[in-house]
Amino acid sequence: MIFKWIILIALGFLVFWLLKPFRGKQKHSVDTTPGAIEDMVRCTYCGVHLPESEGIIGDGQHFCCVEHRQLYLQSRSCHK
Ligand SMILES: [Zn+2]
Repeated sequence: MIFKWIILIALGFLVFWLLKPFRGKQKHSVDTTPGAIEDMVRCTYCGVHLPESEGIIGDGQHFCCVEHRQLYLQSRSCHK
């Protein structure tokens, strides 16, 4: 009868040992979930992509820098 208990305990340890790395991996993947991904915007003038917070807004458009905003507004005013 003792032999039966040894097998049961060994089996329990085996199951625990097999499930442990799986649970650890799951937890790890949850921990490395990236935070809120920032929206990417496109510079209306040169077409470069950049995070919205780093862009410059002018005339309802996004720009990568002040120079491109000015150039875009200038080119627009010239065409009118
Ligand atoms: Zn640009």
